[in-house]
Amino acid sequence: MDIILLGPPGAGKGTQAGRLEDEHGMVQLSTGDMLRAAVKAGTEVGLKAKALMDAGELVPDEVVSGIIGDRLDELGPDKGVIFDGYPRTAAQAASLDEILSSRGRKLDHVIELVVDEDALVERITGRFTCGNCGEGYHDIYKQTAKDGICDICGLSDFKRRPDDNEETVRTRMQEYRGKTAPILPIYDERGIVRKVDGMGSMSEVNDAIEAALKLS
Ligand code: AMP
Repeated sequence: MDIILLGPPGAGKGTQAGRLEDEHGMVQLSTGDMLRAAVKAGTEVGLKAKALMDAGELVPDEVVSGIIGDRLDELGPDKGVIFDGYPRTAAQAASLDEILSSRGRKLDHVIELVVDEDALVERITGRFTCGNCGEGYHDIYKQTAKDGICDICGLSDFKRRPDDNEETVRTRMQEYRGKTAPILPIYDERGIVRKVDGMGSMSEVNDAIEAALKLS
């Protein structure tokens, strides 16, 4: 089963994709994570992407579609994929159709995470992760048990994404509203969109996604 998790920044796409990966053996393909890795490694793609990401603007379609195609080629055909943060434009949606059909795959569902946009800025600007093990935290909603120490690995090396500041988040929201939300009708017409309330707890949202995908 290949699915898209669609929703504005901070809707919980990454968290929910991680759970589907852990619990159902699917593979999360996050273009944001891939681009951040490219920036860190200083590759050509990373160099092209960095300034745009820092400003909250979208990276060119051909760059992200290229990396998605490459990653799919590394996977076996039997692994279900969760597209997280891709596609984000109509051109990317068209590329994804081609990328999938040329590999004998097809999109089964689009999960639309429906969220209250006003709550998202607080969600995003408060989030941080352990730089060692990757565990995610939040200043208000998920603090570490001991101040400044990761609950999972015990280290104190926390990181915040440079684009998780209020100004950049506003631009990212505008990009979502202007370029990404308009692709939903493409999938609506195919009858594959499942709306899920993204404002519940992580487990509630996970349960709702599993029910929509008939995994539970
Ligand atoms: P994310 O981790 O999904 O929030 O993505 C972080 C940033 O990476 C975005 O604000 C964009 O600059 C860039 N990015 C990630 N995925 C895409 C995509 N599919 N198309 C264009 N830019 C992307």
